[in-house]
Amino acid sequence: MFKRNWMKTINIVGAGLAGSEIALQLAKRDFKIKLFEMRPEVTTPAHQSDKFAELVCSNSFKSTNPNIPAGMLKNELRGLKSYLIEAADKFSIPGGNSLTVDREKFSSYITDIIMKNKNINFINKEFTELSTSETTVIASGPLTSEKLSENIIKVTESRNFYFYDAIAPIVEASSIDMSNAFLANRYDTKNNDYINCPLSEQEYHTFVKELKSAKTFPYKEFEKPKYFDGCMPIEEMAERGNMTLAFGPMRPVGLVDPHGKQHFAIVQLRRENIEGTSYNIVGFQTKMTYPEQDRVLRLIPALKDANFLRYGSLHRNSYINAPHLLNQDMSLKNMPNIFIAGQLSGVEGYIESIAQGLLVGVIIYNKYLDNSFQYPPPSTALGSLYNHLTEDKGKFVPSNINFSLFKYGEEISKIRNKDKRREAVVKQSEISFKEWLQNIRW
Ligand SMILES: Cc1cc2nc3c(=O)[nH]c(=O)nc-3n(C[C@H](O)[C@H](O)[C@H](O)COP(=O)(O)OP(=O)(O)OC[C@H]3O[C@@H](n4cnc5c(N)ncnc54)[C@H](O)[C@@H]3O)c2cc1C
Repeated sequence: MFKRNWMKTINIVGAGLAGSEIALQLAKRDFKIKLFEMRPEVTTPAHQSDKFAELVCSNSFKSTNPNIPAGMLKNELRGLKSYLIEAADKFSIPGGNSLTVDREKFSSYITDIIMKNKNINFINKEFTELSTSETTVIASGPLTSEKLSENIIKVTESRNFYFYDAIAPIVEASSIDMSNAFLANRYDTKNNDYINCPLSEQEYHTFVKELKSAKTFPYKEFEKPKYFDGCMPIEEMAERGNMTLAFGPMRPVGLVDPHGKQHFAIVQLRRENIEGTSYNIVGFQTKMTYPEQDRVLRLIPALKDANFLRYGSLHRNSYINAPHLLNQDMSLKNMPNIFIAGQLSGVEGYIESIAQGLLVGVIIYNKYLDNSFQYPPPSTALGSLYNHLTEDKGKFVPSNINFSLFKYGEEISKIRNKDKRREAVVKQSEISFKEWLQNIRW
């Protein structure tokens, strides 16, 4: 059935992370792509440019450590020759243990190679209608336009379609008071990629008190907040307990200043660009109003005179209930010619959106060849993410890649020591991924 309807022509909606990856991968395999992107005429509350693959918040692609899930997933993406991870490596800038990228160069490069690709026909308009006659990949992201969202809701008969997350503020480097800050990486004496802004115990408690009473943007009537833990606004964390931030984004562990002093709390700033002219406040997503951000964030001594290049904000973040709505191949049960890719499918994060997108590309290509495909096993990072979208566990919430998603045999489960068990999971995952890669056409 699947193959009978196939032509090597495909619509891709959204030139974000997932859409750009799929377009480039399928174009390389001689598919003719119509790539729809609505920006800049119609834009989202978070995107700021007309570039493809824009990173809307942090410029970090998470850890480079190959023995933790984010590092494992990136290595698998390198194994699958991901264009976007290759570009992230190419435009990486110092960022301690994370793959940090120069966002401008990254998205300009992706835009450029897509625009020059003769198999990709770029159509600069909002895509709204879902038709049964064309193969279409919807990769319109967590900020899918309203009209398209409405139509997806209609087709899927799903009301469980959105949640929130938030953007961290960006500060101009020259406005940071370095006499109240120091350069260092956590647990790393050799590198000093981060600017660390200490607070005394009293300063910390004043900060938390003001944060808790700060004005925030009101919710729209139809929206009900449902935060993804990794992107929770700081005022929400403060509400959970006065010390929550001191154990979260303001934790001082592993950070000692040049005088050998440890501090009660530390706010870390991460480089935004290679020149080091701007820094983002790590883990400081917020829904405070802009004047309140201006007031409260200045209570951090090093940011007393800070120039905020971008304030933090809060946005709708759409996803679908994948285990209920999707077939195994990531197409809609109600409309199998429509595939869902990227964050809209219920993964969470840049690398996860690229990974799920790339997987949709691999599925489409392999199905096109002969309608057979072996899905990645849940012992791999990619397979565990895929499994999260297909296994019905009752309540479905989006997830980033983490150890809890991996599945492994009894032998590994029996290992009681956590570190040793994880070591075995990583090893097993590498073996399974290599085997899987040999069994697919890519
Ligand atoms: C505010 C916010 C902050 C985030 N911060 C982080 C972070 O710091 N780190 C992290 O790892 N993840 C973060 N995420 C989560 C997620 O990783 C990113 O949103 C990621 O960009 C998702 O990739 P995507 O390809 O699915 O969607 P996107 O990259 O958003 O791409 C979707 C594209 O589709 C376009 N589009 C939408 N509707 C239509 C339409 N009808 N027709 C045509 N084009 C359309 C959009 O303009 C956009 O270009 C954040 C998400 C949000 C909403």
